[in-house]
Amino acid sequence: MPPERKALPVIDPARCTGCGWCVGVCAPHVLSLEVKAWRKTSTLHDEAGCTGCAKCAVTCPFGAITMQREATPTPR
Ligand code: SF4
Ligand code: SF4
Repeated sequence: MPPERKALPVIDPARCTGCGWCVGVCAPHVLSLEVKAWRKTSTLHDEAGCTGCAKCAVTCPFGAITMQREATPTPR
């Protein structure tokens, strides 16, 4: 996981129309469209590869993506 990452995108399947814009802007290509319950929705298929850049959230025309802060890992 990139150490600078602060948040992960959370996709609301009820708002997502499957337009694919977020998939196109994601530089590390960790988003993909998946068919779920007969509709296409965007999915973060590789959480570890996400840099937390938030481009997907900014791009989504339907406000389906919110960036959520990750829980701080417990120090050992
Ligand atoms: S840009 Fe938004 S509506 Fe379009 S596929 Fe991505 S999450 Fe879904
Ligand atoms: S935050 Fe950036 S790297 Fe992560 S899924 Fe969205 S566009 Fe891709």
